[in-house]
Amino acid sequence: MSGYQFKDILSVKATAYDACELCCGKTDGITKSGRLARVNHTIAVDPDIIPLGTKIFIPQLGHLYTAEDIGGKIKGKTIDVYMADHEQAINFGVKELTIYILEETGSI
Ligand SMILES: [Zn+2]
Repeated sequence: MSGYQFKDILSVKATAYDACELCCGKTDGITKSGRLARVNHTIAVDPDIIPLGTKIFIPQLGHLYTAEDIGGKIKGKTIDVYMADHEQAINFGVKELTIYILEETGSI
């Protein structure tokens, strides 16, 4: 069984999106990584800051996320959190979040 340890802690500006035409310009919900976006799991990142595939814990949201997507407006210390629908994404607004970048430690 593999575990994770904290590699880095970042303060980021977070917004939210969903799989609608307005947010994505398409509606298939397929992320940059090729996986289907999932609520409480998928976030979009700037891959120059956070590589795709990185596991990220966000205490303020209470979930472990995976960096699976990118976005034209997601540059620098900014993330976009995937939501179930457009209303939830709008209601999320803009938040300052502390995120924990995790790395696998191998077996414990
Ligand atoms: Zn939307």
